[in-house]
Order: sequence, then C-alpha cells, then structure tokens
Amino acid sequence: MANWVLTGLRSGIRTSGYPTTPDASPGVSPGRPRAAANLSTKQVEAIQRECPTEALVPLEGGIAVNHGRCVHCFRCRTAEPGIPWEIDYEWGSAPDEIAAARTELDRAFSRSLHVRFVDAGACSACMSEARQINNPYYNMHRLGFFITPTPRTADVLLIAGPISDAMRSPLLKAYDAMPTPKRVVAIGACAISGGVFGPSFAALGGAGHVLPVDVVVPGCPPPPLAILHGLLTVVQRKPPIELISRPTQREVAR
Ligand code: SF4
Repeated sequence: MANWVLTGLRSGIRTSGYPTTPDASPGVSPGRPRAAANLSTKQVEAIQRECPTEALVPLEGGIAVNHGRCVHCFRCRTAEPGIPWEIDYEWGSAPDEIAAARTELDRAFSRSLHVRFVDAGACSACMSEARQINNPYYNMHRLGFFITPTPRTADVLLIAGPISDAMRSPLLKAYDAMPTPKRVVAIGACAISGGVFGPSFAALGGAGHVLPVDVVVPGCPPPPLAILHGLLTVVQRKPPIELISRPTQREVAR
C-alpha cells in the first residue's frame, strides 16, 4: 500500500475527472469505427467483406456500424478505403423499450449502487477491464458504485461473456437472488450478441436470451470509462447513446 502511494506521488497519477470533465488521457479508449457516408456500392461491399462479425450494415450511399457486434479488429479501418475511427468512450446504450419503462425507482440507485460481476463464459478481457473501474485511477467509489461479492446485496448484475451452457443456470440463480428493483448490464460484444462465438452448441449468444437487459456496453473489450458510462446510464446520470452508428444528415448531404 505504502509503495503504491509513493509511486502515485512520484508519477503524479491521479484519478480520472470523468464524468465531471472529459478524460483525454492517452490509452483511456481504443476507439471504435464510425458510420461512413458517400461510398459507392463497390466500396461498401469491399469494407463489409472485411468484417468478421457482420457488424457493418449497408445503407444507401454509406455504411452503418452495429456496435453490439463489433469486436474492434481494426480491419475496416485499415481497409482501402477505410471507415473513420473515433476515440470516445461513452458507449453505454439502453434499448428504447427499457428506457421508456424506467421509473422514479432508478433515483434510489443514484448514490449507492452495488454491482455483482458474473463471468458467463468470457475470455477474461471484459472482466479484466471491469476490474479496472475499482482501481485508483477510475475509482468507482467516488461515483457511489461498489462491488459486492453476493447477489443478495446487488442492485446491478454486470455480465460478460456469451452465456455458456455451463453458466446459464448460475447466472439465473444470481439474478433470482437479487432484491428488487434490480438492473442488468451486459458488457462486451459477446454478452450483447455472442460476438465471435455467436449462438452455438456451447453458448446462447448473449445475455438478452436469458435475462431482461437494461443497459449494454459494447466493445471487445469495453474500456473502463465505457463501463463507468454504462453504470452512470443505469442511474440516469448520463444519457444512453445509440447502439448503431449511422451517418449524420450533414455527412450524407456532402
Ligand atoms: S472493427 Fe468492428 S466493424 Fe470494423 S471490421 Fe472489425 S468487427 Fe467489423
């Protein structure tokens, strides 16, 4: 502990200012692809062929990105022509019908939200990023978020992985053991859509197949600030953003 404090004092590392101020520190996000406009059909087909997870959706004169499927392989960025890449991290998204069903109860979570992590067959990348939100730089406690080892005191079930057959039952047991009201957050492409695993003989292809998912945080894996944004979305301290990125009208009109 003492060593860590000394290292922090020497290096000058301090806690992220997010969400009060944007965090532009290098490395806080790998970025992700953004929709592109003014592409020919041939160009759209060529870019689409690069994507291993069918995350790119052709539109008239352009291409949209379904972030729930994107695994950040960079192939659409390095293709010729490539599509733009944006460095941001506010990736938390909420399906419309769930957002509309939100009630005043969400305010009860706003300053004390207890989170139970469940690894439902993940490769460990998402869980490794999720663990970072409890380190001194991201410091989830300053936002009123806490990790709990038991679902009996959890407000949020944070799920990573494509929901392997072996984890389906433990996941449902954890959800059933949580008091109400409760929320479910799926992090990473696997927990949203199955990612590179998809639905298969060994996995269901996403948490939405077994539980009502309130917020999704896309990414492969999502960086810690994206996971914090997802939790801030749960407590309505940040608005959710669209899961599918489409070109703006101005980009289309150019
Ligand atoms: S970065 Fe995402 S959208 Fe682009 S090719 Fe890879 S998986 Fe597809």
